[in-house]
Amino acid sequence: MARNGKEAMEEIGHVVPDAMILDLMMPEVDGFSVLRMIRSDEKTASLPVLILTAKHITKEELAFLKVNHIYQLIQKGDIGRTGLLSAVKAMVSGDRETKTKVAEKPPGHPVRGKPTVLIVEDNPDNMMTIKALLLDRYTVIEAADGMSGIQQARTQNPDLILLDISLPEMDGYQVLDTIRKEEALQHIPVIAITAKAMKGDREEILSHGFDGYLSKPVDGQLLETTIQRVLYGT
Ligand code: MN
Repeated sequence: MARNGKEAMEEIGHVVPDAMILDLMMPEVDGFSVLRMIRSDEKTASLPVLILTAKHITKEELAFLKVNHIYQLIQKGDIGRTGLLSAVKAMVSGDRETKTKVAEKPPGHPVRGKPTVLIVEDNPDNMMTIKALLLDRYTVIEAADGMSGIQQARTQNPDLILLDISLPEMDGYQVLDTIRKEEALQHIPVIAITAKAMKGDREEILSHGFDGYLSKPVDGQLLETTIQRVLYGT
């Protein structure tokens, strides 16, 4: 535990932890500075860092977090105790595997072209989080409600749709039904994203005809494997 950036750097100087949860808004040495220092030190360069913050994040700040390889960005209001625990568990257990995989991946990974992903999500913070996870590898299109999502799909012809279930006016189920009824759109795979992570939901959602299912907070590694499976059957 450290109550500010300065304390955090002192702690890390004694013992390098297996993972770190970092707030961005702190007096004097803020989270951005802590992250920069961690990444510039060989001992902590690959330390998994989960950003947990209430801060509204600008595009520039998001780019900075990406460049500095954060494990995940979580907005404080979006996560409960269980969600945070599972995020930390995934960070501690899965990260080494992720790194190896990334390292072993040859340059020029044989993906034909950059797939276009349409994200339909009404919560701007969640939108930003998902975008941050995708931006390097995918062309991202955004829609904040179901109707404009359908319109974007008609005009942009995305390779994949990530669809929030809980949307104003038209919910995700209605959006999916519309997509599946339209000849020009029905082939597009749709992955449901939902905040509800209760037992039985997964089956209920998949039985509706979605191609995949992700619960919030969206885990970066799971997002990628789900997209790969849906797009390429791998
Ligand atoms: Mn929503």
